[in-house]
Amino acid sequence: MHLIKNCPIVVTKTPFEAVQFIRKKVELFADDCEPFYAVDLEDICNKHVRWLTAMPRVHPHYAVKCNDDTVILKLLAFLGAGFDCASKTEIKKIIDLGVSSDRIIYANPCKQSSYVQYAKQAGVDTMTFDNEQELMKIKQVYPDAKLVLRIVTDDSNAVCRFSMKFGADLETAHFLLEKAKEIDLDVIGVSFHCGSGQMTSQAFVDAIKNARSIMSYGDKLGFDMKLLDIGGGFPGNTGTDEHFTKIAGAVNKALDEHFPVQCGVRIIAEPGRYYVASAYTLATNIIASREMIDPGTDEKKLMYYVNDGVYGSFNCVLYDHYVPEPTLLKDTSGEQYTSSIWGPTCDGLDCITTSARLPKLPVGDWIVWKDMGAYTISGAVQFNGIPFGKPLYFIAKSVWDNVKQAFQEKQIEYTVGRIYRMNSECGNEVEDEMVPWEDFEDPVLPSILI
Ligand SMILES: *Cc1c(COP(=O)(O)O)cnc(C)c1O
Repeated sequence: MHLIKNCPIVVTKTPFEAVQFIRKKVELFADDCEPFYAVDLEDICNKHVRWLTAMPRVHPHYAVKCNDDTVILKLLAFLGAGFDCASKTEIKKIIDLGVSSDRIIYANPCKQSSYVQYAKQAGVDTMTFDNEQELMKIKQVYPDAKLVLRIVTDDSNAVCRFSMKFGADLETAHFLLEKAKEIDLDVIGVSFHCGSGQMTSQAFVDAIKNARSIMSYGDKLGFDMKLLDIGGGFPGNTGTDEHFTKIAGAVNKALDEHFPVQCGVRIIAEPGRYYVASAYTLATNIIASREMIDPGTDEKKLMYYVNDGVYGSFNCVLYDHYVPEPTLLKDTSGEQYTSSIWGPTCDGLDCITTSARLPKLPVGDWIVWKDMGAYTISGAVQFNGIPFGKPLYFIAKSVWDNVKQAFQEKQIEYTVGRIYRMNSECGNEVEDEMVPWEDFEDPVLPSILI
């Protein structure tokens, strides 16, 4: 079977967990010490199902910038998600997969003119704005566009805030709607983003209420305000189910109050990290280590150097305020020391953490990092010529059989897959169920090996 070229997907007979998969891979390929991601494709499917279950009225448009891995994009396209693109390249990437342009929202309130031109050619007509100049630009380049007004939110509880850069306040929103009417542009709705890594559901509730008031004003001016976009910011790390469910509950309630079903407003969201964070587990190899005595406290400390760092996958430490936590593959008892873990480049900034507690580990051992799917590979570069982790996907056969169509070549148009329930029971007897796969690099290698 040549379903996917250049795409190392390992289909396993029984479900695997990421760490278990990594252990197996490391065991089978003891010589290969390059960093890699174990990507759990079932986890992505489960997230989608959970989304549909938790917020049946809200259609997700995956935020491509969060992780633009083609395999994930294909899978999400197949599952029926829409996409939030913010540039020409992101739009092109989604269109090239065969996704129709009406499944894309161009959700960048400040766009380069030539990109708007491109969106027009590509048929992506729905786009956000939050300032007068943008209206003028769109009037000139794409007067038939369907505009979505981005409003400001209270994102003081978010890890990554946007309100200082994007969003119109109430007064500006009214002014912009009047302006749009005056120059005969079509505004169809309102969007917001409560901040990435949003910690409270109240921010969503308040923003939905504000959106209602602004959309009512738009309707009064004669627009047909029929789209509400509640943005991203939904948590996606392992163990955040409860938090997500809480936000979803609050969103549903606010929607039912301000946008009851019969009002006919279509509701979408732009989740990024929600979909991908927990699916990616990164395995790094210890390439060097040192012991040192803390001059202040006389405490013995360890320093580990691993082969992916803040220029690569761990750019999330700098850009996404992420605090990664190391896990070990082996159960190592013995004394633990305060340890710092450094990336492989020659820059002193390249530090992943300074506060890990680790035992003494030999060079060649693996350090594993969970929840590494969001804002990691999408922002990584090969500084010093050192590559960052490459994804290696795994999925149990029972799930694969439901989604493999997503990866067929020359797919003209993605039809929406029908997945409502995933098989997620996890067997214990998996150890020897996976036959070694071979050279990942081979472009015509069958990607399915069970
Ligand atoms: C980054 C971004 C998102 C995704 O945010 P997450 O916190 O990853 O869900 C969604 N919409 C817009 C406009 C963004 O800029």
